[in-house]
Amino acid sequence: MKSQARVVVIGGGVVGVSTLYHLAKKGWSDVVLVERHELTSGSTWHAAGLLPLFNMSYSVGQIHKYSVKLYGELEAETGQNVGFKQVSNIRLACTQDRWDEYMYYAGVAETIGIDVKVLTPDQVKDIWPLCNTDGLLGAIQHPDDGYIQPADLTQAFARGARALGAEIYRHTVVNAIEQAASGEWTVKTDKGDITCEHVVTATGNFVRQTGDMLGLDIPAIPVEHQYIVTEPHPDIVARQKQGLPEMGVLRESDASWYMREENGGLLLGPYEKGAPCCYIDGPSPDAEYELFQEDLERLEPHIETAINRVPAFGEAGIKKVYNGAICYTPDGSPIIGPAWDRKNLWLNEGHSFGVTAAGGAGWQLAEWIVEGEPSIDMMGVDPRRYGPYASRNYLIEKNEEAYANVFSVHYPDEERAAGRPLKRTPCYDRMKALGAVFGSVYGWERPNWFAPQGYGFDAAAIDADRPDVLMKENHAPVAEGELVRELWSFRRSNYFEHVGNECKNVHENVGLLDMSAFAKIEVSGSGARAWLDSILANRIPKKRGRIGLCHMLTANGGVRSEFTVYEHAPGRFYLVSAGAFERHDHDYLNKLCPTDGSVHLSPITAQYGVLVLAGPKSRDVLQKLTNADLSNAAFPWLSGKMISVGKARAHALRVNFVGELGWELHHEIEMQNTIFDALMEAGAEFGIKPFGIRAMDSMRLEKSYRLIPRELSIEYSAYESALDRFVHPNKGQFIGRDALVEWRERGANWRFVTLEVHGVTDADARGSEAIYLGDELIGRATSGGYGWRMQKSLALAMVRPDLGELGQDLEIKILGKRYKATVIPESPFDTENERLRA
Ligand SMILES: Cc1cc2nc3c(=O)[nH]c(=O)nc-3n(C[C@H](O)[C@H](O)[C@H](O)COP(=O)(O)OP(=O)(O)OC[C@H]3O[C@@H](n4cnc5c(N)ncnc54)[C@H](O)[C@@H]3O)c2cc1C
Repeated sequence: MKSQARVVVIGGGVVGVSTLYHLAKKGWSDVVLVERHELTSGSTWHAAGLLPLFNMSYSVGQIHKYSVKLYGELEAETGQNVGFKQVSNIRLACTQDRWDEYMYYAGVAETIGIDVKVLTPDQVKDIWPLCNTDGLLGAIQHPDDGYIQPADLTQAFARGARALGAEIYRHTVVNAIEQAASGEWTVKTDKGDITCEHVVTATGNFVRQTGDMLGLDIPAIPVEHQYIVTEPHPDIVARQKQGLPEMGVLRESDASWYMREENGGLLLGPYEKGAPCCYIDGPSPDAEYELFQEDLERLEPHIETAINRVPAFGEAGIKKVYNGAICYTPDGSPIIGPAWDRKNLWLNEGHSFGVTAAGGAGWQLAEWIVEGEPSIDMMGVDPRRYGPYASRNYLIEKNEEAYANVFSVHYPDEERAAGRPLKRTPCYDRMKALGAVFGSVYGWERPNWFAPQGYGFDAAAIDADRPDVLMKENHAPVAEGELVRELWSFRRSNYFEHVGNECKNVHENVGLLDMSAFAKIEVSGSGARAWLDSILANRIPKKRGRIGLCHMLTANGGVRSEFTVYEHAPGRFYLVSAGAFERHDHDYLNKLCPTDGSVHLSPITAQYGVLVLAGPKSRDVLQKLTNADLSNAAFPWLSGKMISVGKARAHALRVNFVGELGWELHHEIEMQNTIFDALMEAGAEFGIKPFGIRAMDSMRLEKSYRLIPRELSIEYSAYESALDRFVHPNKGQFIGRDALVEWRERGANWRFVTLEVHGVTDADARGSEAIYLGDELIGRATSGGYGWRMQKSLALAMVRPDLGELGQDLEIKILGKRYKATVIPESPFDTENERLRA
């Protein structure tokens, strides 16, 4: 065994071995893998080997696509047959909502380049003659999809990696992972130590123990997953004898199971409600090829629906039930990327579709390690999308929920209930009493919208068993006995007009929004300004009290993070960024921070609340509470100062994300309710009302304000995202500057545009829709919705650069239907920002 290597990968499941292979492929041959038992002795050996391409996430979709393509080529490269059967995958739809989901997904797939076909029930019957098509609306099919032998796939990766110089040490247990002050890692095993530059963990169900060794609470815990294999069935055996093709993988999404042929019989894999987390603190040291006692009771409802759909399933005897551990995270996506707070430590954990994801996950992680950056946007799988709030017991609740919802309809406005409410701002109860319907981001409860007094639901008109019910327990009844019941949908739903009324009130009077979830950090020290200048693309405001919008770019000139920067005291800079990216953004700052003591970082998210006061009457309201001069001359747009607000004080920043006159009031958190009450009281005569994130989102679309990771992404250069006025290549060096200059010379691949979508009556774009010129796919929507102030359906999009001129007519496909879309000016509402400057 080597005592030194460039990279040590821990874990010889399909994910770890793929990572090793891809590192070697990138030219790093001095890489080793350590596995405690045999390769695949963890979760990999008992996987059903399905390779579902279907995924609503742009990141994960691209990862799966890469895998499936690679798996078709591996045998030719390595000589190892991987048992890849490209038998296709059919997903059935029985409800309109399911159909909408598929049509939405078809847009994601099309923009990623994944082939999806639409099938009628008769076409399903042709392909799957054993399937009863009663009650089917239709189906979608992935022709490239299929299944593979996970152990053979792992061996193919191992062969490929070894051929490129990588080494694999089996029966070697990692007992400790330590980092020296120099940054060098030591991986301590029962066979000796290996020092290295980088460590990758891919430890599957052992992730909690790995986390303990590292002192990191890695947000993954496995859940039990079962599948049933039947004895051969005469009809299938007969088909085989006739040389007929396999019928492919069948997914009955509405009954939450998949099925495929297996050795002349059938294999049924349900995602049951009530499947428990397992290995909560990790498996026992001697665990290998481990299965749990099957739980047939949990499988029963699925067996019933499976027999109904495929009667042959009920006719074949059960041969074996597998019940194994499958690793989960709260959102069901894996954890791929750098660990927080540690340099050169990489996580490839939490894989629930690990056989499918292994290829792409190994590929992108290897790029990240070797080249410093992945080439696809990995925000959806970045380990830092979770914060310290994702603790053990929270994970148990969330992961069981994620597992149970693998097949639920993935509505864009879905808000899941488990583990909530978790993080609450002081004004939570006040918002709740005002009818707040909360959403959750990064553990924080944030009002999505407000149900007005008297709003309830007509119990008779709504199917109480539908799963799309907002957590009843999570907010107050709006009137005696009346519960707010939000219907999730891909279309305009029952909260639509109430969001419209919130926008109207912000536009005509004044609204109050709780944005305390913002991530906040203070940067101070003698070198603070120079350091910020060297990492951010915009000029750091020279004058104290001025506010700058500053982006941190990748070395390739893409956009990594966005900060509002405000020097609130001499040499002390207050940086605000999106709440969801607190750990992500702060980790980058931490890792870039000079170690000579010249710069000091103080994370202060939880110390400061933020109340946003916005609307033409916001000055009147705030002026009643402060002695500060709020006139335009004394307090212009994009400036900030500490002011008194009633009995309290706040840093008032004259910025907002809705395009109206207004201030963000950043205040000591314990003063929040004092400020909240004072604003509501002072604002009563001006018609103040609270508003939520959905109204904010509608208004930000009308201002063409970009969001990470939608319009801003590591995949688009800052110029492609039209950030020209925030990027100053002439100010001196900063991260991404040179690449950006080159990018400008090379020319853009994309152009950011704002689109008006014509003829929409009930389904606005949501982001990820395909955009065409004639039959040519020329772009993708990144966001979309209804602009209430403009009374127009809008989309933000990235399109081919020559098609971004004002007035250009294009088409956008929303839920399977094409609509005309015209390029309109950026910031179509109040293009000159007169209302912001008022
Ligand atoms: C019943 C069932 C069916 C499934 N079906 C599918 C499917 O159809 N398609 C799909 O894509 N996925 C499926 N999965 C999920 C899939 O099995 C996993 O996502 C995948 O195998 C994860 O691979 P991995 O490499 O991350 O983990 P593992 O295969 O568990 O590998 C982790 C390895 O790390 C080693 N290790 C851990 N700690 C240490 C240490 N300290 N020192 C040394 N070595 C260590 C372990 O021994 C283990 O071999 C299924 C899972 C189950 C349970």
